[in-house]
Amino acid sequence: MVKNEILIVDDSEINREMLRLILEDEYDIVEASNGQEAIDIIEKGDHVFRLVLLDLVMPVLNGYETLQEFNKRGWQHKLPVIIISGDSTDEALSRAYDLGAADFFAKPYNPQIVLRRVMNVIASREYSYRDLLTGAYNRSGFLQMANNFLQKCEDRTKYAVMFFDVKNFKAINSVLGTEGGDAVLKQTYRGMSGAGLEPIFVSRFEADHFVCLVEADKIDIDAMMHENNQVLDWTGRSMQFRFRTGISYIDSDGDVINFVDRAKLSLSYIEDEYLKPYAIFDDKMANNYINAASVTSEFDTSMANEEFKVYYQPIMEAATGKIASAEALIRWIHPIRGFVRPDLFIPVLEKDGFISKLDLFVDRKVNQVMRRWHDQGLPTVPVSVNLSWMDFYDQDMIQNILDHVAQRVTAPGSVRYEITESSFAALKENRGDVLSALREQGAWLLMDDFGSGYSSLGMLMHYKFDILKIDMSFVRQLENNPDVKHIVKMIIDMCHLLGMKVVAEGAETETQVNILREDNCDYIQGYYFSKPLPEEDFKQFLAKCKAEGKI
Ligand code: C2E
Ligand code: MG
Ligand code: MG
Repeated sequence: MVKNEILIVDDSEINREMLRLILEDEYDIVEASNGQEAIDIIEKGDHVFRLVLLDLVMPVLNGYETLQEFNKRGWQHKLPVIIISGDSTDEALSRAYDLGAADFFAKPYNPQIVLRRVMNVIASREYSYRDLLTGAYNRSGFLQMANNFLQKCEDRTKYAVMFFDVKNFKAINSVLGTEGGDAVLKQTYRGMSGAGLEPIFVSRFEADHFVCLVEADKIDIDAMMHENNQVLDWTGRSMQFRFRTGISYIDSDGDVINFVDRAKLSLSYIEDEYLKPYAIFDDKMANNYINAASVTSEFDTSMANEEFKVYYQPIMEAATGKIASAEALIRWIHPIRGFVRPDLFIPVLEKDGFISKLDLFVDRKVNQVMRRWHDQGLPTVPVSVNLSWMDFYDQDMIQNILDHVAQRVTAPGSVRYEITESSFAALKENRGDVLSALREQGAWLLMDDFGSGYSSLGMLMHYKFDILKIDMSFVRQLENNPDVKHIVKMIIDMCHLLGMKVVAEGAETETQVNILREDNCDYIQGYYFSKPLPEEDFKQFLAKCKAEGKI
């Protein structure tokens, strides 16, 4: 059980002692003998005080001056103050209340009353640390409490952070409604607080994500698997739900948020959602690890330092083996971390709204490079640029692209954009017409990662595409799964009926390439032909194609 901390500020040692005796069973007590000392202790940050008991008449900085200093620092909302002075004239009290004091204790202290009122005042401020729905700590409450707790631990390596994600929470919400979703969250919190884990702090960190600080010894994978299948009884229906869990052992100094980020990151390394729905953070992940905050804070500098490079992956014509086009793929080559995988920073940039800057950079760069090569008499091909769903929420981005496309199209399809179905919602909410406007100006649209999501067919119904890219996950299984082979063949035929060409993504073997050829797939992209190449290497690749008549 972790006790809340209270700061007693009084120049009289006897007075401090009396209050300490009343409170110390329930609370951790820290003492200061005047206002300045109190401020120094709070600012040092070793404690998270839930309450200050403040004398009014003191040397150095008296009670009123102390309250004024608190207010200057914006503490009045976070840190309740109870006055404990012997000077209880109406005038003294109303001055203290004006300065934000929450309550007043008269001497002699009645232990029962003191305890009650301390509890009440703390409880009434508690909401800023708590998630109102579940009663768990909220994000900032958890981080404060956990950081403070670990700071005081002799051996922080005895602890671990666990990150729980309610699987398919969106689906639960849409089946049961928001109230049903809320019930799932409440049950999750109750389950966690009661579980054998005996977490030190439980928080609903964000949406359907729960984070716990636990003793590492208490983590019992078997028990966790057992408790993973939760059943919610909701207005006569029972609904099953499960968690995905990431675990990060606290093995070094640093803010708890780092361990939360690691635990969350390890979720993306879960290999089997059913048999092993958890992952433990390890150093291999650490090489790839980059926390969201540092992506955001470094983005502008990294752009300015040209750490972002555009790579080009050739796309070949299936029937002839000639190069047909290429896809522009962004690479972040970080001076310290080295190569950072796009799937680690793109989602972060999407959340922060920076992705549009990056996409615009790629668009401009591709255009600039191809124009230069063309002017130098070198071979070029159309290069497609990936757009993010976020771009369609950004009116400036849309306008920028639209403004430049018209000037750049030299032949239909010389400018191309790849869009995934995750853009669907953004398009519907914003400028659905932007896609047709782009096509009218001669740009081609590619439906990316077809088949990987839920509403690909819906996208095809609403918008017109020139080329469809079959997701890599299908190509992977072409050789071993006859059903997949049929699905791929059917997608290709469907596209041809709808007047679209087809690219198969991620072909790595000769067998895959042969099957795709037999099935009349138009184009193939994959390591079998080439990995994504830096600009210079791509230039060579094109030169070689030219020399061999493959362009
Ligand atoms: P995507 O658009 O589907 O890009 C294809 C991904 O498949 C690339 O991963 C490429 O390197 C990989 N790939 C191609 N052939 C093979 C293969 O034979 N085997 C395997 N294992 N992989 C292959 P990459 O470059 O890591 O990019 C991942 C995703 O990040 C892209 O998926 C795209 O959605 C996004 N992305 C990349 N660059 C940009 C960009 O400039 N802007 C935006 N908004 N997203 C980008
Ligand atoms: Mg793509
Ligand atoms: Mg793709």
